[in-house]
Amino acid sequence: MKKMNEEDFRFLEKYNKPGPRYTSYPTAPMFSENFTADDFISEIIETNKDENASPISLYFHFLFCAKLCYFCGCNMRITSDRNLIARYNDYLKREVLLIKKFLSKKRKVAQMHWGGGTPSYLLPDEIKDFGEFIRANFEFSADAEIGVEIDPRGLTKEHMEAFRSVGFNRISMGVQDFDPKVQRAINRIQTEEITKRAIDWARQLGFESVNIDLIYGLPHQTLESFSITVDKTIQMSPDRVAVFNYAHVPWLKKHQKLIKAEDLPKAEEKLKILKMTIEKMTSAGYEYIGMDHFAKSTDELAIAQKNNSLHRNFQGYSTKAGCDVYAFGVSAISQFENIYAQNTKDLKEYFERIGAGRPATKVGYRMSADDRIRKETIMQLMCHLKIDKRKIEQKFGIRFDEYFADSITQLETFIADGLVENKKDEIRVKEYGKFVIRNIAMCFDAYLQKIMAEKPIFSKTV
Ligand code: SF4
Repeated sequence: MKKMNEEDFRFLEKYNKPGPRYTSYPTAPMFSENFTADDFISEIIETNKDENASPISLYFHFLFCAKLCYFCGCNMRITSDRNLIARYNDYLKREVLLIKKFLSKKRKVAQMHWGGGTPSYLLPDEIKDFGEFIRANFEFSADAEIGVEIDPRGLTKEHMEAFRSVGFNRISMGVQDFDPKVQRAINRIQTEEITKRAIDWARQLGFESVNIDLIYGLPHQTLESFSITVDKTIQMSPDRVAVFNYAHVPWLKKHQKLIKAEDLPKAEEKLKILKMTIEKMTSAGYEYIGMDHFAKSTDELAIAQKNNSLHRNFQGYSTKAGCDVYAFGVSAISQFENIYAQNTKDLKEYFERIGAGRPATKVGYRMSADDRIRKETIMQLMCHLKIDKRKIEQKFGIRFDEYFADSITQLETFIADGLVENKKDEIRVKEYGKFVIRNIAMCFDAYLQKIMAEKPIFSKTV
């Protein structure tokens, strides 16, 4: 990547405005209570009639954490009440049994992910118990991707052995930043030794892929300080690295008020940090997959991007395209070809609904024909950094340039800035366009203006 000069920064700064991360299209603010639990069940029944229905993906949301990280944007609860955690696990099982009875027995699990919250806050016996329960209720394909988010703090080798014993083959761990000053400001003290120890256990136990999450834009970060964090990360040689942009949205996440706005790096410093990170990671042999993600060229994600088989869902990038995602737990979002269904974010309501034998669906969305066209277009951009106009035309029977005339007009500013190329057969994101991929995708979003006018819900893109 060529050196970025001051002028490059100026034009990139102009795109630094609020926007979605496009883990779905339409994005979550479009979900509504008009889509009910009954709609969700009907869709499950409908999509399981097909004898050849695709494999499925399972997501479990383990809600609880031991200690609050001030930057946290997840749906989580801090607790030390082990009875509450055990009760929640029990309700997750009940939810599985409730939904599973509508599923075709022929559908295997191609992917499973445990997120949260902190799944490794479960005790080793709880991990084994829940994992065995899932194994007893679903058949997994031999090459299933089975991943879990762990927190190296409080982790023991017994936790890792428990995950491995029930088939997990991928782990992802939050690090955020190795700098102690930054760690103090975000209330997450995690020494390098602890992180390194977790990676060593993963390697010893035969996990196939190790991911580290970093966050840029945290309080007190500078180009120099984060450069050291990136170097240390590279030394640990994870297979994948995600470098997220901190979303400071204290009006949505009240605890983020514990982070002082004046301690946050300015937009220009963040851009420099992002650019430095991309340069260092790619020089160290990692491929830049797209928004926030790097993977070793031998990793499945990098291979999938080259083969155009990369896919994006609420868990980020995935190699398992076309799987319906069945999600369980508080706030979890199921996603099928035609619908999204999100569970309640309220723990009490979750217990009540599941306790009464009803799905915990709170909001959802049924996609229109236009939504499907735009979803495919935006996902091509996010996953392949280009849009294959002919493919979209063939799949949906439209004339791309006519259908997206407005979007193409919106792209003109990116084209003028050398970030995007609009060719006869494809729209291609150029080198620096990767920095503002969300903004480019926003040109194809039919609902963005409506959402932005109603709620200030998104974080800034850089
Ligand atoms: S461990 Fe993860 S989910 Fe829990 S508070 Fe920290 S960032 Fe949030």
